[in-house]
Amino acid sequence: MKRTEQYSERLSRLYPELHEPVGTEKILTQTITFQVTDDCNLACKYCYQTHKGKKKMSFDTAKKMIDLLLTGEKGMRDYINPRRSPGLIIDFIGGEPLLEVGLIDRICSYTIGQMIELNHPWLMKTMFSICSNGVCYFEPEVQKVLQKWNNRLSFSVTVDGNKELHDSCRVFPDGHPSYDLAIAAAKDWMNKGGYMGSKVTIAPANVMHTYDAITHMIELGYNEINANCVYEEGWKPVHATVFYDQLKKLADYILEHNLDMEKDYYISLFEEKYFRPKQEDDLENWCGGNGVMLAVDPDGIIYPCLRYMESSLAGQQEPYSIGDVDTGICQCECHKCRVECLKKIDRRTQSTDECFNCPVAEGCSWCTAYNYQVFGTPDARATYICNMHKARALGNIYFWNNYYKKHGIDKHMENYVPEKWALDIITQAEWNMLNSL
Ligand code: SF4
Ligand code: SF4
Repeated sequence: MKRTEQYSERLSRLYPELHEPVGTEKILTQTITFQVTDDCNLACKYCYQTHKGKKKMSFDTAKKMIDLLLTGEKGMRDYINPRRSPGLIIDFIGGEPLLEVGLIDRICSYTIGQMIELNHPWLMKTMFSICSNGVCYFEPEVQKVLQKWNNRLSFSVTVDGNKELHDSCRVFPDGHPSYDLAIAAAKDWMNKGGYMGSKVTIAPANVMHTYDAITHMIELGYNEINANCVYEEGWKPVHATVFYDQLKKLADYILEHNLDMEKDYYISLFEEKYFRPKQEDDLENWCGGNGVMLAVDPDGIIYPCLRYMESSLAGQQEPYSIGDVDTGICQCECHKCRVECLKKIDRRTQSTDECFNCPVAEGCSWCTAYNYQVFGTPDARATYICNMHKARALGNIYFWNNYYKKHGIDKHMENYVPEKWALDIITQAEWNMLNSL
């Protein structure tokens, strides 16, 4: 979700005065996700949307959702309003959203048209975002729509690092690969001067390719690379060791190629401000999945995030809906209760004492909706990612302290990882080397 977070940060930067807290309430830009179809032209092997279908959102459904958002009627105002969220990000997902590019165009036009008519405060602060597999990027209608909304659009094509990695998972239903199409789309968009977002998903099956994937993207011209380890079960201790080695190799690449990580590049695996204890009063949820975001599915059912939809929960829990486009949001006891539960949860209520007091808690993430999938309540925390975060912390100590040294920067990243934890991942000699930096 980092992609839309960056958009949100951009809006905060452009309009800082609008993001000043009101009382204790934090002001932020909220994201509304429209799942315009659950159909897809690929059959990716790891896709979390296990229940793919052929549903398409009707324009009437989309229109009702926009009307609810703009009028604030039927409970919507309490969930989202321009005071709490000065900007709006309307995110289109699928399946593959570009299969419904005509609908996307109509939704964008209707949204802006209504905002003009209502002289709505969101008019100048609404952005659209599309994340696509790139397969139908060159179709004339797609090109027309992308160009039409270009100045309000964040467009990204999912590329899983290099060809081998991408084609091992991202295939058509008949098994043929999709890398060449994705990369042609990404390059064309960047050549036209478009901003290209990215998202590399690191899982047990591909963690050994992390270095290849990220360096390949750098060579393709990406200068902002978002990568994260999946939250799902399946990580083994050995993966943490592999991940550390991959991060170290990547760090050496960045140092050798003199990449400027302060001005020119952002690679989310390396974060200067993470890997330390969190303040006790920092109770913020990791993401907006606790009642800050909204998502609507093709049938017009409303959820707190797309990950709570039936298509994402692998049949393990019932969909966590909180309303629909006809009746509105929180209009029955069940939906009210769900939203109240979401609004009450924070880092303290979800975390065990071990996580809450963890010396490297800063930057260790969780997915509130996945927690619901695992535990039947969003107010819990799955920690399958634990060792991967610790490995990332060690990789960051290596990277930043070498980076500061190389560039003569008077900074030092402190190592908060306890030795005992580190020695489950790296050798004593490696530990000693990290502490000598
Ligand atoms: S999951 Fe592990 S690394 Fe993350 S906060 Fe909890 S104990 Fe710390
Ligand atoms: S609940 Fe999960 S999928 Fe939804 S915003 Fe949070 S991390 Fe992302």
